[in-house]
Amino acid sequence: MEDCRWEKITGWQLAGFGLGLAVFVALLLASESGFIFGLDHANLLFHEAGHPFIGLFSARLEPYGGTLGQLVFPVALAVSFWRQGRALAFAASVIWFFENWLNIARYMADARALELPLVGGGDHDWNTIFTRWNVLPYDLNIAGTVKFLGWTGMALVVLWVGWCGWRDRKRPDSIAQFD
Ligand SMILES: [Zn+2]
Repeated sequence: MEDCRWEKITGWQLAGFGLGLAVFVALLLASESGFIFGLDHANLLFHEAGHPFIGLFSARLEPYGGTLGQLVFPVALAVSFWRQGRALAFAASVIWFFENWLNIARYMADARALELPLVGGGDHDWNTIFTRWNVLPYDLNIAGTVKFLGWTGMALVVLWVGWCGWRDRKRPDSIAQFD
């Protein structure tokens, strides 16, 4: 990776990012089995938009549309910020991407229990998908793995930000202004 690919992260930005991260993780842990207000509303909105969109192309793939819809916006943002060299905005997008995995895992874990209230009022996505894949009895194991990967992904991004900040500590401000 080129040193100047990303714009410099200042100590203040790093501190702000750390503070935001601490609040975010506290919210995540506090709502471990629940729902983060605001963020998961956005996830839900994108989820519900994803079904009919994918459904336009294939009725068979429609159950996957919600999950894809949830993931496509953080990915699009991450790509955009990556191209602009905005390290912290990129990191926040990737964290949002992996936070979605926790949200998806929560839905997966409900595949047999069928206890979550379903906004769309239709079928339970993961009950449908896991039944199709013949893995319904393993819903909790799969959900556990997805949740673990979500946390791991977020942890790796945070480590990357820390590494960028450490690397940037002596870097002059004048280099790599991308705007
Ligand atoms: Zn759905």
